[in-house]
Amino acid sequence: MGSRHVAVVGASLAGLRTVEGLRRLGHDGPITLIGDEPELPYDRPPLSKDVLLGKAGPADVALTTAADLAALEVDLRLGAAAHGLDLARRTVLVGDDRVGFDDLVIATGAAARRPNDLPHLDGIHLLRSLADAAALRSAFELDPRVVVLGGGFVGAEVASSARDLGLDVTVVDVAPVLMERGLGAVLGARMTRIAADAGVRLRLGTSIATVHGTDRVEAATLSDGTVLPTDLLVIGIGATPNTTWLDGSGLTVADGVVCDAFLAAAPGVYAVGDVARWTHPGYQRSIRCENWTSAGEHADAVAATLTGNPVAADAIPYVWSDQFGHKVQVAGLPEPKDEVRPVLDTSEKFVAVAGSRGAQSSAFALNAPGALVRQRIKLAARPPWPPEME
Ligand SMILES: Cc1cc2nc3c(=O)[nH]c(=O)nc-3n(C[C@H](O)[C@H](O)[C@H](O)COP(=O)(O)OP(=O)(O)OC[C@H]3O[C@@H](n4cnc5c(N)ncnc54)[C@H](O)[C@@H]3O)c2cc1C
Repeated sequence: MGSRHVAVVGASLAGLRTVEGLRRLGHDGPITLIGDEPELPYDRPPLSKDVLLGKAGPADVALTTAADLAALEVDLRLGAAAHGLDLARRTVLVGDDRVGFDDLVIATGAAARRPNDLPHLDGIHLLRSLADAAALRSAFELDPRVVVLGGGFVGAEVASSARDLGLDVTVVDVAPVLMERGLGAVLGARMTRIAADAGVRLRLGTSIATVHGTDRVEAATLSDGTVLPTDLLVIGIGATPNTTWLDGSGLTVADGVVCDAFLAAAPGVYAVGDVARWTHPGYQRSIRCENWTSAGEHADAVAATLTGNPVAADAIPYVWSDQFGHKVQVAGLPEPKDEVRPVLDTSEKFVAVAGSRGAQSSAFALNAPGALVRQRIKLAARPPWPPEME
């Protein structure tokens, strides 16, 4: 089993960690790592934080070095997009080349979503890659007025970094509070107050109807008719899994590559990280997570499975965000209809649990990392809702 050829498509966090895990666990067969970005694998969380602030550059966000990858004896193909998968012949199509494999790991992540009707104007930015972050950082240096469309984690972090730099920033979101989907209404409302106190202008419960400009973006008209003059428009409305290269492959794709509990999409074909939609053994349903921790946990599980020790992806999802000088953390899968019960609520810290329909779904923390770790451990036991008194 150890000498099988493993091809990994997607050379970022999940792909790299899979390769490292395979070698650590003794896989001695050939490994090919294919990535469409030109850079060696790098970390994305700092892109909206220290990279925008000018505190971190490419070397600071690198996840590995050329020397470390060489030591892993990886056939590395960077700047090379996979554009097809032939499962019958067990080959990945890369340019004019066909890369054969015995086992395939799909780690192609997700791409920042762009509204279809958005005009192509200078001053409009997405944020997913190091190149995106470098472009936005350069634009920030010109002291622009900034409008951020989307008040999710990435949008809120961009607004936080912009305020740290003293920029005039407005966040537009249809939801009534920032990060409502990720943090729920209660912590979302608290983070909204924190953002407002930091000087972020908030246009919640609205969306952008029209973007104006000839060559550059000049203004955005909101759905309530307000016109916001701006120099930059940052789009932070979520991400879409990178699966078009799998069209016609025979794999099931439905907002991600559909996998079983072991992240297997077909015999000898696995998906890891943001691109994977898998049946979580604890939740007993299909989920997809876009967070740093799941990407690493998936990689570890698939590396173990490929080296003869099958491991299911059963960890409780976990995401963190650093913004406005605060650390926000979520464990589990919040549901829109959850009831939220605060466990700790002080001027500095907040911890809450949430649930509905008989089961606790999640836990939230503001500036309370230890408490969140404990709550995440408890969630693994699928506690009932309402919670039992301690
Ligand atoms: C700005 C930003 C901030 C974030 N902050 C946090 C945070 O604070 N906390 C947190 O938990 N998570 C955060 N995340 C999410 C986290 O970074 C992702 O969950 C993680 O990067 C997922 O890793 P991945 O390897 O699955 O996918 P990706 O990192 O998306 O990597 C996929 C790779 O595959 C490549 N690829 C795509 N298609 C092809 C193809 N056809 N052929 C070859 N290569 C291809 C892509 O270009 C990319 O290099 C953040 C993400 C962003 C963008």
